[in-house]
Amino acid sequence: MEKDIYIGDVQSGAHDGQQIVLKGWINRTRGSNKIRFIVLRDSTGRIQCVAKRADVGDDTFEALAGALIETSVIMTGVVNVDERSEGGHELVVDSATIVGPVNPENPFPITESAMANAEGGETEFLLDNRHLYLRTARMTQMLKIRSSVFGAIHGYFRGLDFTEYHAPNFVAGAVEGGSTLFEVPYFGRKAYLTQSWQLYAEAAMPALERLYTIAPSFRAEKSRTRRHLTEFWHAEMEIAWAGNEDVMVHGEGVVRHIARTLLDERSDELAALGRDLDLVARYADNPYPRIRYDEAVETLQGMGVDIEWGQDLDYSKEKVLTQDFEVPHFLTHYPRIAKPFYHRPDPDDPKYVLCHDLLAPEGYGEIIGGGERTWSETEILERIEEEGTPREPYEFYIDVRKYGGVPHGGFGLGVDRVCSWLAGADHIREVIPFPRDSRRVTP
Ligand code: ATP
Ligand code: MG
Repeated sequence: MEKDIYIGDVQSGAHDGQQIVLKGWINRTRGSNKIRFIVLRDSTGRIQCVAKRADVGDDTFEALAGALIETSVIMTGVVNVDERSEGGHELVVDSATIVGPVNPENPFPITESAMANAEGGETEFLLDNRHLYLRTARMTQMLKIRSSVFGAIHGYFRGLDFTEYHAPNFVAGAVEGGSTLFEVPYFGRKAYLTQSWQLYAEAAMPALERLYTIAPSFRAEKSRTRRHLTEFWHAEMEIAWAGNEDVMVHGEGVVRHIARTLLDERSDELAALGRDLDLVARYADNPYPRIRYDEAVETLQGMGVDIEWGQDLDYSKEKVLTQDFEVPHFLTHYPRIAKPFYHRPDPDDPKYVLCHDLLAPEGYGEIIGGGERTWSETEILERIEEEGTPREPYEFYIDVRKYGGVPHGGFGLGVDRVCSWLAGADHIREVIPFPRDSRRVTP
């Protein structure tokens, strides 16, 4: 029953002249009363199948002639090399079976005219029909790129002997500020969906020393932007006996490894999406410069941007700052007042914290946030007090520091953002199967 021949193999010439069985879905169909040209698709590509009434018999011919788009079929025939066909091959059909028909009263809804005439516009129409939109070529390409990005992240960390480690998704405290916390009823109490794995990872740092995860994080982002989801995939790492510089080395390392992996595994998909492969190669091959926050603020002020020292850089400012970047840049040493309590103040100048954001070029902006952690008990208590954060949810976090604290740090990388940037997508929701934002939890 398991399928053994894929269209991609046929198109690469592995079955020329052979009699084979192809299983897939009808992507397009046309023809006359004597001959049908059916474009079959599967997860690996498309191929034209030619069925003549004289070869397949009246019953099969009528069934194929009446079959609508997205009908699933099994076709048997001989592979013909034909330069004029898409991909250079066609299947000359001798028999066919319809597996899952499509009712003519309810045809596949995603068509050019339906998109053009949709009431809420094309984008909303495709989001409403996301469960069906997934099988279009564009989404298939995005999902394959996404899979390779996940594989590359696992490969990078496992290759360096990091341990994959898992934190709870129901938590009691915020990592990234209370305004984006999702509150959930929890047996008469309140709990929150986690915004990050970090605090629980730091607890395991003395046990594992080098750890990472890829897991969903949840943030109640009210404003809808091209780079925020309410549920996103977060690749995070934590490393013991390490400072801000060491952590950045891994941030750069993993991003360049992702770009290299995509060139190796997904060049065809990237090219089909119209992505310039030279750009991706540039991101894989070149080092990422570091600039300090103060320098960035001066640059922005010099460009006439309204920014004061101490402000976090929002997207509009990141966009201006990165417009001339040829590769991602690290922005380091933010003012202490701009960052949460777990960022470690710089011992050389405690006005700043030892942190970094990695900003991607081409208008994509932040893809990584990380830094060194406040690791001594006295210092963390001071930072919590200074920030006015309630202590209770963080007791375990403070407790960890009572028993042999060591310098350590880590980062969080937005996997969907990296997919979006490297694939050249217009919007983050293009790279995740079922995007969630403030207005949408369906389908
Ligand atoms: P931003 O300022 O863009 O909201 P952030 O400072 O809140 O980002 P961090 O808390 O540092 O982000 O999270 C680490 C990484 O997770 C970010 O660099 C980004 O790549 C990703 N990320 C954060 N929030 C989201 C979101 N809502 N949707 C998708 N990815 C996100
Ligand atoms: Mg944010």
